[in-house]
Amino acid sequence: MISVEEALERIQQHATPRASRLMQATESLGCVLAADIQSDVDSPPHDKALMDGYAVVATDIEPGVELSIREEVTAGDVPTKRVAPGTATRIMTGAPIPDGADAVVMVERTELIGGDESVVRINSDNVKSGQNIMPRGQSIRSGDVVLRTGRTIRPIEMGVLAECGATEISVYPRPSVAILSTGNELVAPDTRPKAGQIRNSNGPMLEALAQRAGGTAVNLGVGRDERDDLEQLVRSGLREDVLVLSGGVSAGVLDLVPEVLAANGVEQVFHKVHLKPGKPVWFGIKSDAKGDKLVFGLPGNPVSSLVCFELFVRPALGSLAGQDFSSIERRTAHLATRHSRYSDRPTYFPARLFECAGQLQVEPLAWKGSADLRTLADANCLALFPPSDSAFAEGDAIEVFLL
Ligand code: AMP
Ligand code: MG
Repeated sequence: MISVEEALERIQQHATPRASRLMQATESLGCVLAADIQSDVDSPPHDKALMDGYAVVATDIEPGVELSIREEVTAGDVPTKRVAPGTATRIMTGAPIPDGADAVVMVERTELIGGDESVVRINSDNVKSGQNIMPRGQSIRSGDVVLRTGRTIRPIEMGVLAECGATEISVYPRPSVAILSTGNELVAPDTRPKAGQIRNSNGPMLEALAQRAGGTAVNLGVGRDERDDLEQLVRSGLREDVLVLSGGVSAGVLDLVPEVLAANGVEQVFHKVHLKPGKPVWFGIKSDAKGDKLVFGLPGNPVSSLVCFELFVRPALGSLAGQDFSSIERRTAHLATRHSRYSDRPTYFPARLFECAGQLQVEPLAWKGSADLRTLADANCLALFPPSDSAFAEGDAIEVFLL
């Protein structure tokens, strides 16, 4: 049986970014840029007022000076008059600085005098050249590369793209992920299970995990443990970049997933990994002109499904989407209590991570095993207990994986 690390290496070999394509910038949230973005404008496009107030000649100002007002310029206007000593232009934030002026005095430091508001008294002392002005191009110069290939588009990048006029951009598209839950016992969440049945909790959970990992999920529903039914659904699933199945990969008489995948041209890369929960996990590829399709067969128990998704599927989806192949975020923490449930396999144990007196501490939860999703819902991490034949003591340093 291979280790988690070796499984990750093998997955990484097959998880290469999908072909880049052009996309509307407004639809690209979460995508990774496949080409540099250059600005077609200076930002700001003109020397710009950063305050509401008066544009003046700095050397002209001493406290109490009275200036005649040339004109009023608001954002969106273009100044038409030059500011010379003895004069000022009333200006609003964002408006272009008129020729001749080199400082803006904020309105709070001024006073309009004369009945017709044609003269302003400046009460500010020490007005410096450049004060309250952002020079043209200080943030961006036309032609600058503002975002580089490999950058993930967050809301901030959306704003930068808009500022630079990049409305259609080259990105690695989100991988499409088919989700197929298998099992004769499964019924939909809106159905009351009859004798022997349970609700399909993996389907919605894996769909949400795929979305959150940057994929677009296609939920194929439930496949029965019958070759024909599974084959038909597997064929649909293989139209997507990634197919994630749950159930049917263990040693039971109705665990048909590996053979159905093989019959549909999916080549096994590994079956079974040295971990708990999730040992029966299966991974394979179907070669395709457009790149390998990745197929993950996750064990049906919900906690095993989640652990295997987080460990193996998430990094693969990131890599297909043009991000680094990076495994789940980890920290080192100290055990808050003694832990005596040990195993011959590395165990990813539902736990709560918290800070106490400046130290990261982790408390394993009262977890009842791979079918106990409810306790996992109270966890914010998985504590990794290496194989051991003795108990772990309070204060022991262990690795934890953030959920
Ligand atoms: P399997 O991997 O198919 O042997 O399933 C292992 C256990 O997980 C069985 O108890 C199943 O009933 C349960 N199981 C399988 N699929 C699901 C699912 N989609 N949702 C909830 N439990 C499941
Ligand atoms: Mg099953």
